[in-house]
Amino acid sequence: MYSEEEYLMLSALQHLLFCERQCFLIHSEQEWQENYFTAAGSVMHEKADRVGLEINGPALKIERGLPLRSSSLGLSGKADVVEFHRAPDGAWVPFPIEYKHGKPKADLSDRIQLCAQALCLEEMLECRVPEGALFYGRTRRRLPIEFDLALRNETISACQRLHDLIPYGEPPAAVYERRKCEACSLKERCMPEVTGTRQKVAEYLQAMLEGND
Ligand code: SF4
Repeated sequence: MYSEEEYLMLSALQHLLFCERQCFLIHSEQEWQENYFTAAGSVMHEKADRVGLEINGPALKIERGLPLRSSSLGLSGKADVVEFHRAPDGAWVPFPIEYKHGKPKADLSDRIQLCAQALCLEEMLECRVPEGALFYGRTRRRLPIEFDLALRNETISACQRLHDLIPYGEPPAAVYERRKCEACSLKERCMPEVTGTRQKVAEYLQAMLEGND
């Protein structure tokens, strides 16, 4: 269990899964630079971020901007939208929806961020959250996501890695990957072509000094 002082932002998971160095720079060194990708993401979230409860018939309630927290994951944040669906037994079942400006990704980052929201809801509301959805601006479609055991375990493991990294871990070395780094809001600050090379040289020299070359 984490104390409130140890809580990290739920959205940091997205940065961790994109690049651990970017995550460290943003959340440990408080760096942030607006670029097209972060600006487009902000616009999508502003649209989804209208706060409040909407009743939509007898079987659907919609909560926007719902604060989230989990002491077992050590996270806090906010859900874009949580729908509550009335089950046959009369219980309200939460169904989180996260808005993304792009299109579905090949990696698990969006699913893990959404699953972390589901785990927060389960802890807060003491209920089961079996599924949710990602809404992508590019496709204008909802992608249903089932929170199965494999995704839950990946999410818990990502949270542990995040707490190992922030706030006292070492900045991970830059690894230049063209597709990723050219889209990164911190590229100018990070200088991955230079710092990555420098890191490799430093490691080589250290190995030479230790006689491990
Ligand atoms: S420029 Fe590349 S290595 Fe540096 S923080 Fe961004 S994604 Fe990571």
